Amino acid sequence: MNFTKEHARKVYITLILLIVVLLIVLVGLFYARRQPTDSTQEDQTAQSQQSQESVQETDIGNKQNKRLSRKEKAQLEEQVHASQSDADINTLIKEFPRDPNQEAAELILINKDNPFEQEPQVPLAYDAESGQSFHEDIEKPVTELLNAAQEAGYPLYIVSGYRSIAYQEQNIESNYQQYLAQTGGDEEEAQRLTDAYVAPANASEHTTGLVLDLLGKDWLAQGKSLSEDYENDPSAQWLMKNAANYGFILRYPKDKEDITGYNYEPWHYRYVGVKPAQYMAKHGLTLEEFHLIQEALAEE
Ligand SMILES: [Zn+2]
Repeated sequence: MNFTKEHARKVYITLILLIVVLLIVLVGLFYARRQPTDSTQEDQTAQSQQSQESVQETDIGNKQNKRLSRKEKAQLEEQVHASQSDADINTLIKEFPRDPNQEAAELILINKDNPFEQEPQVPLAYDAESGQSFHEDIEKPVTELLNAAQEAGYPLYIVSGYRSIAYQEQNIESNYQQYLAQTGGDEEEAQRLTDAYVAPANASEHTTGLVLDLLGKDWLAQGKSLSEDYENDPSAQWLMKNAANYGFILRYPKDKEDITGYNYEPWHYRYVGVKPAQYMAKHGLTLEEFHLIQEALAEE
């Protein structure tokens, strides 16, 4: 072909026109997606996904995650520290379990800043071996977790489960007395240790019935109990790797003491549901941080 100057100019103009049209279409699409009232395909997919969710997660409504401004994202990023991955705030937002039921009982946040206002009514199921109890709603995941650990060769024992507020009061006192004996009567140090490990009477997560303090039976057979070096036991390692698949998170991780308000407890596992647990485990987030993201994404 013989490309004259005239030909070249025509091709050039056609190309520019094409690019302009493409840009207009892209900008149009971008704004269409931003319109919250639009019934986009995304909504429909979300709705059909919702109808397939389990019974516990049905009454979610058609809430859509809010789009955060750059400033809101920066704020959230400052509050949330994903420790086990390099995920930035955009990944955390993108992978946040879609439309978790904000009122879902299994996501309740109880800590020193969010105590119980009154004694909750907790229907209980009992573990025959330990005599410990937990919320009857988590009987299945508890059984599945314990069975899986057993099959993997790491039989677990429930050291502590549900505690009432009154029981927690006694628990605080007996722990304080133990620390007092350990420190040779140092009241200040005994109080400091009690505050670091034992929850206030109305702020123990154990009162939700969703918590298990778990130790390996082999560990117990060695005469050992709740101590930080349990983390090196193979059963603790197994728990860290697998508990999330049964809906449980390591509630008080290392290096998150300032966020949870508690020292590292490699034995304290909290049920939050499978999807939230897998998300938190993957990104090294605490339940406090999960709630920060959930609140930031919730529509007012
Ligand atoms: Zn505990």
